[in-house]
Amino acid sequence: MAKIIVFNNDSDRMETYYREENQAMPYNTNRTLTVREFRGSSNSPTLWTTKRTMQTWNSFRYLYGSSIPVGYAFKRPWEGGHGNQSQHYAGVAFDVGQRLTNAERNRMRNLAISSDMWSYVEPAYLTPTWVHFDKCRCN
Ligand SMILES: [Zn+2]
Repeated sequence: MAKIIVFNNDSDRMETYYREENQAMPYNTNRTLTVREFRGSSNSPTLWTTKRTMQTWNSFRYLYGSSIPVGYAFKRPWEGGHGNQSQHYAGVAFDVGQRLTNAERNRMRNLAISSDMWSYVEPAYLTPTWVHFDKCRCN
């Protein structure tokens, strides 16, 4: 059972949810992002994210048009991570597509850039074996 704290950008309030690992994240539609996927390798009892992050995930997943395998999203600062821009600790960044082919990852990375939904997409030369996108452009 994970405690999930979600900043609700509409009400400016924090919301607390308790979810099993195999349940969908709060505000996720069609169970395209489970708690287990969101936590990745983190063993934190508490996870954080924002409503806008979850809504942007929903939109991006819909645009991509097929399932997105998630390696990691939330990480506490001392649990690793990469890059200076990483906001995994805030639960607003995703590392996905580890199990996809290079061509599929490139399609997703290009879509993440062209969709203009994310404020940062790591270039392929930095993260060739996954796709990192970060912080929605949504406020
Ligand atoms: Zn990342």
